[in-house]
Amino acid sequence: MEGFNAMDAESGHLKLRQPSTFQKPVYEVMDLQIPVADFHDMCGSEGLDDDLPLLHYHEIPAFLQGNPWVQTGYRSMLPFNKCCRSVLSWNNETVNIWSHLFGCFLFFVLMLYDNLVMIPAYGGSVSDHIIITLALMCFQFCMLCSAGYHTFVCHSERASKRWLSIDLTGISIGLIGCYIPGVHYAFYCLSLWRDVYLVTVALLFGAVLTFQTSPRYLTAAWFYRRLFLYLGLAGYGVIPGIHWVYLNGGFGSPLVNIFLPKLVIMYFLGVIAFVFYLTKCPERLFPGKFDYVGCSHQWWHIIVVVAFLWWHEAGKDLLIFYTKTKMCYL
Ligand SMILES: [Zn+2]
Repeated sequence: MEGFNAMDAESGHLKLRQPSTFQKPVYEVMDLQIPVADFHDMCGSEGLDDDLPLLHYHEIPAFLQGNPWVQTGYRSMLPFNKCCRSVLSWNNETVNIWSHLFGCFLFFVLMLYDNLVMIPAYGGSVSDHIIITLALMCFQFCMLCSAGYHTFVCHSERASKRWLSIDLTGISIGLIGCYIPGVHYAFYCLSLWRDVYLVTVALLFGAVLTFQTSPRYLTAAWFYRRLFLYLGLAGYGVIPGIHWVYLNGGFGSPLVNIFLPKLVIMYFLGVIAFVFYLTKCPERLFPGKFDYVGCSHQWWHIIVVVAFLWWHEAGKDLLIFYTKTKMCYL
């Protein structure tokens, strides 16, 4: 029986269902079934480890399977409050969740520091404040989406699909967070090209986000399409990169010598991250030995944080270079 709605599930993602004879009333938020009482119960002192069974790979439902070389430590079909509490327990998603919660906190602190200390110290402009803040907010959003996915993937099959699409959207937004300062600082003194590339990147990401709404987007059959889409998005940066080297006088230019190695290292980090993601090494070589710490997905997470941080520092170095040399005013 349909009950009273606080908000429509599709538009506001919040729905309060009337209790049936046997069920507690639940809110539906982003495909998570949240019993009303859980809002008050989430920080309860109930013991967690006693009632959080960790399962073997062959005991979990098909929608949670995907990496047979991680063999133990799985949570499965947990109600909302146990998903939340499991963040504080030791299972095979703990490092995945906390690596990106830490990343979110790190980029939040950097956002405050840059706006209050770093940018004013170097005499940056309003646009520097806007661009750096936007980029760091994109990184934080990406980290939160990922931590949310790894927390709630074990709730239900429907929730796992919804949160996978949220995670993938977070990756797209994280990539936008790389392009915005990259293009802004690379073409700092060439505002026409800066605007051309920013518009191009915006159109590309608009197309990707539209593509993500396809009902077949999350299917296994479209795995390689998804993969090539993200590789294409990340690889597109080579075009403005080469153009930037050309516009700045080639490999002999001091500006190119400072910044090009940073771009190359950024792509190198991206390649290493993808190699971990695709090969599922080292757990493929030593099944069951990296279930809790050291498996490929954790390396992927950590390298993504390092790459975002590296890119942020590269942008900062360029800002300092421009403001110190006053290059744009020569
Ligand atoms: Zn992940």
